[in-house]
Amino acid sequence: MKGIVFNIVHGSMVDGYGIRTTIFLKGCPLRCKWCCNPEGQKYDPELRYVSMLCKGCGKCIDICPEGVIAMSKEGEPVIIDRERCTNCMKCIDSCFFGALETFGEYYTVDELFDIIRRDATYYKSSGGGVTIGGGEASMHTDFTLALIRKCKENFIHVAVDTCGYTINEKAFQVLSEADLLLYDIKGMDPEKHLRDTGVSNELILSNLKKLDSLNIPVIIRMPLIPGHNDSDEDIEKAAEFLSTLKNLDRVDLMNYHTFGVIKYAQIGKNYELDLSPLSPERLDEIGQIFARYSIKTQIGG
Ligand code: SF4
Ligand code: SF4
Repeated sequence: MKGIVFNIVHGSMVDGYGIRTTIFLKGCPLRCKWCCNPEGQKYDPELRYVSMLCKGCGKCIDICPEGVIAMSKEGEPVIIDRERCTNCMKCIDSCFFGALETFGEYYTVDELFDIIRRDATYYKSSGGGVTIGGGEASMHTDFTLALIRKCKENFIHVAVDTCGYTINEKAFQVLSEADLLLYDIKGMDPEKHLRDTGVSNELILSNLKKLDSLNIPVIIRMPLIPGHNDSDEDIEKAAEFLSTLKNLDRVDLMNYHTFGVIKYAQIGKNYELDLSPLSPERLDEIGQIFARYSIKTQIGG
């Protein structure tokens, strides 16, 4: 059994839960317009083209069996027809300049665990562990469950990050074995949620209620996106709903940012938004609304 991983980050932090290694699994049912990991959305490996490194030598054009790479007359040195690219990855080795790569590599649980265990000293000294995120970890039920069990057999704390949309019976069982849940809430308005993430929020909110019955601590991760979920009304509704949870640890407020925008072009996607982060004053006001419902917040994770 193998899982498809698009990133492994050593030394990541979840405040209060020590130094961690985060495993990012590929595949997500949501299409949030602000997503900072667009390379994690698709379930399968996909071709990454880094135009800054491309010298325009044309070697990849000759290699591509589908004939979907062509010299460009303006902008980037080559253009790739993503509609027709099969992600066969045959072009990668033809590029001596590292302009072509894969987002997504397959690992067995043991291969991943060999990487995870290298940081065991940090986990012990800081009270940290492993975070399994994505993409959406609950879409890889068997793999995620096997990885959780391997870590826990070795006394490593496991947090699982979930968007809450794909939680069927099996996924529920997987999440029930985690030590900590990081649960993404994008907003309370079903119509705006559908417009901006591609799915309604009803299932996500009802799954959160179900998971709350597991008595596992939950940290809510809430991106703050201007025009989507940042009005007083939006925040009041979220605070009211979250205040009913029994196992809520806190809400992490993630201010809007554009750190992932460069990756959209690398996989042939467009980034639609043109927004600015919320001001420190507004973040403070939002924190105060949550505080009125006795909910702890912090900026970032
Ligand atoms: S991944 Fe395959 S189909 Fe796509 S550009 Fe490269 S060689 Fe062509
Ligand atoms: S082989 Fe690499 S450097 Fe040459 S044109 Fe293709 S992507 Fe650019």
